[in-house]
Amino acid sequence: MIAARTRHRRLLLTALLLVLAGASPALAQQVPRPEEALGFKPGADFKLATYAQAVAYFRQLEQASPLIRIFDLGQTSMGKTMIYAIVTSQANMARLDRYKEITRKLSLVAGVGTDEARALAAEGRVVVYIDGGLHATECAPAQHLIQLAYDLVTGEDPATRLVRENVITILAFANPDGMDLVADWYQSNLGTPYEVGPMPWLYHKYSGHDNNRDSYMVNLLETRNLSRLVNQEWYPEVLYNQHQTGPFPTRIFVPPQSEPTNPNIHPLMVRWQNLIGTAMAAAFERENKPGVVSGFRYDSWYPGYETQAVDGHNIVSILTETNLYRFATPHLYTITDFPEPYRDFVPSVFYPNPWRGGWWRLGDAVAYNLTASKAVLHTAAVYREQLLLDKYRAGAAIIARFRKEPPYAWILPPDQWDPPTAALLLNNLRLLGIEIAKADAAFTSDGLTYPAGTWVIPMSQPFALFVKNLMEEQVYPDLTKYPDAWQGLVSPQRFKDAYLPPYDMAGWTLPYQMGVRVRAANTPLDVPLTPIDRATAEGRVEGTAGASYLIPPQTNNSFIAVNRILKQGGEVSRARDAFTAGSVSYPPGTFIVTRGLTAAAAGALAKELGLVVTATASPAPAGAAKLRAPRVALYRSWTAQMDEGWTRFLFDQFEFPFTNVQDPEMRAGHLERNFDVLVIASMSTDQIVDGLKIGTVPPQYAGGITADGVRNIRSFVESGGTLVLLNHATLFALDRLAIPITNVLKEFSVPGRREGGEATAVEFACPGSVLRMEFDPKHPVAFGMPEKAPGMFIQSPAFRFNPTFGEKGPVTIAKYPADDILMSGYLKGDKYLKNAVAAADVPLGKGRVILLGFGVEQRGQPHGTFKLLFNSLYYGASTATAEAKPAGGTSAKAGK
Ligand SMILES: [Zn+2]
Repeated sequence: MIAARTRHRRLLLTALLLVLAGASPALAQQVPRPEEALGFKPGADFKLATYAQAVAYFRQLEQASPLIRIFDLGQTSMGKTMIYAIVTSQANMARLDRYKEITRKLSLVAGVGTDEARALAAEGRVVVYIDGGLHATECAPAQHLIQLAYDLVTGEDPATRLVRENVITILAFANPDGMDLVADWYQSNLGTPYEVGPMPWLYHKYSGHDNNRDSYMVNLLETRNLSRLVNQEWYPEVLYNQHQTGPFPTRIFVPPQSEPTNPNIHPLMVRWQNLIGTAMAAAFERENKPGVVSGFRYDSWYPGYETQAVDGHNIVSILTETNLYRFATPHLYTITDFPEPYRDFVPSVFYPNPWRGGWWRLGDAVAYNLTASKAVLHTAAVYREQLLLDKYRAGAAIIARFRKEPPYAWILPPDQWDPPTAALLLNNLRLLGIEIAKADAAFTSDGLTYPAGTWVIPMSQPFALFVKNLMEEQVYPDLTKYPDAWQGLVSPQRFKDAYLPPYDMAGWTLPYQMGVRVRAANTPLDVPLTPIDRATAEGRVEGTAGASYLIPPQTNNSFIAVNRILKQGGEVSRARDAFTAGSVSYPPGTFIVTRGLTAAAAGALAKELGLVVTATASPAPAGAAKLRAPRVALYRSWTAQMDEGWTRFLFDQFEFPFTNVQDPEMRAGHLERNFDVLVIASMSTDQIVDGLKIGTVPPQYAGGITADGVRNIRSFVESGGTLVLLNHATLFALDRLAIPITNVLKEFSVPGRREGGEATAVEFACPGSVLRMEFDPKHPVAFGMPEKAPGMFIQSPAFRFNPTFGEKGPVTIAKYPADDILMSGYLKGDKYLKNAVAAADVPLGKGRVILLGFGVEQRGQPHGTFKLLFNSLYYGASTATAEAKPAGGTSAKAGK
């Protein structure tokens, strides 16, 4: 009541003052403070605003002020509407379309000469994009946006006015679903012993933390929406993405970033990043906010991050990591919490004002975020014209460079293994603002001839470095080679034989991951190109309708077709061996649809999915195994595993029906009654068996599958079920099911993320890279695979079979070659991987364990190996019914 009366009085007072001052009608309505709308100040102890509250407040601001406008941005994965706000002066707001056109022209360069560029930069406004809440458990950034919007709209100090005059500020909530999931979880535990307990599910329908590893693959709706905004609509000069896992005990990380620096970033972008980061750090010192660190841990190597994906778009990217305790609960830190090297408070060039401990609250993190955002905006305002012009300069220099030097273009030859996936690669790039084209005529490049219509990615475009970064093989830099250049970051002398792990992946080459053939043009292309908005793999039905339709096992989209046919009650078999129909030969694993597909439906399916389907009068070949829709269980741990989320994402995308099973079902057992296949995505044995620590979360979420669950999994397999284990989860079978297999990398501790910016000397290291693998396409799990193909090694195990006596032994599905294992990234100690097994089919009782010991579906990216997972599901269902004979493969009785 008191609050309401006070507010009423203030409203009256404001109205009176406005009347007296003769204020413009636009300002006649009072701009509400966040605390008036929310009931608390953003960052208040124990309080988290939900997305709905934040949007409602933004709409109130829009009602009350002409300086902010709200726009829809599309749907989230869980069906909310994403919004973004633009804040700028009233004069700028009236000319938004003109400013949008200016930044677009300067960004895309084409048709703009130097004089025009200067004139445009002089006229234009610098566009700065700031988002918050991408990582939803890092609560401060999303909360700070609420206060930032208010401050930008109402601030009348010279700095804020300059920002409004010179900057078009875009404010976006990057993960609305996550913001609400986290607020709800925290609210439900507030005041209980579990107040700071971890949330037992991901803060995104599919990805959790990996939503900041999705930026070049654009799998998630949110990434796609933000990419359209950034790369097709607004072309900002600066993008600021906020996080909250600051390296303890520092309070915030701001640029300059650490080594290694990605070579495909225009140097102007690195310089501006350093300049803005340093201006931010100075703002902190000015405001007496200690604990600001730079040049530490966070590098620009991997383009999966939101910030590093835009580096290649000539956008100055700013990443910060503010420190976080948990949610909105305050915490007191004393010096005894500090790691030893930080207890002396020794100042250094990138950490001149160490934090000395004390209370740390959500409100402190929000205050740090506000300082940081305002410093980014103010610096952009001060350098408005230079930033606009330098974006043009970078783009123009890149276009000029690739007119003079290779690669002149990237060519996707028409003989693709999986044509719809090749089209997908191009369409994703298009969404990311990359120009894609078709050759108007046949042409020759580097001695090879290509037909008219061949897909080409020209490099004479402003964001060509982004393309190069994705297409080429990554060569991860060896620290020992650059002691002078990298001095100050680490001390190479201390680490003879040093290796500096990247923050995330070392290699990601997109065509390798996706199984797409791409060739670099080393000489200029001599053929006219027509830009296209969408690449389409032409699907069609060949042959004449007869006994059956053949669907190829190589194309990932075939699994969508087969799932739909099975769902509608059709009949599908899989060829065990290669066979000939007409005069054409078909590989093992070819799908044979014998019932339930009309000619019209076959045609529609082929066209929609880009499949080449063959109608044939030949009978199904001998040994074809009848498929039925696999009854799939996917284990979902309360430890909230991203790999489970991505597996679910793929099942949804490729239309595999499945059921999530959780700890109660695992402990109860009898899984065989309802399921043919149990999939456990990548996670550790401890996470599976022990789960979340008892006492940290409400009891129903603690404890894992327990020993009962382990026994139940064993009896599920022994009674005929198929257990499919992905990457790290394969070790569960080695640890708990006593299968006759050894992990040859066991003795090497898994090299995790670097700690303290230090280099580590290790005998074996492969921090996420693309490796060469050999597959057995006669084995049902590798149906449709090439014999040699890239696979993603994600700190994976590698297997050797132990001798078995009498009983059937494990069978190799995929292995590492004897030589030349590394394709892209970093691999030290390749001798350990030579001829080691990467994927295996292991009999156990009447059932089997399928070990897929690498990142077959990691982050929904390696389309080239998705088939191994999909095939495992069909294999499990067909073995349960049709006693398919073990096909192909090498039995390994002798152990190798
Ligand atoms: Zn984060």
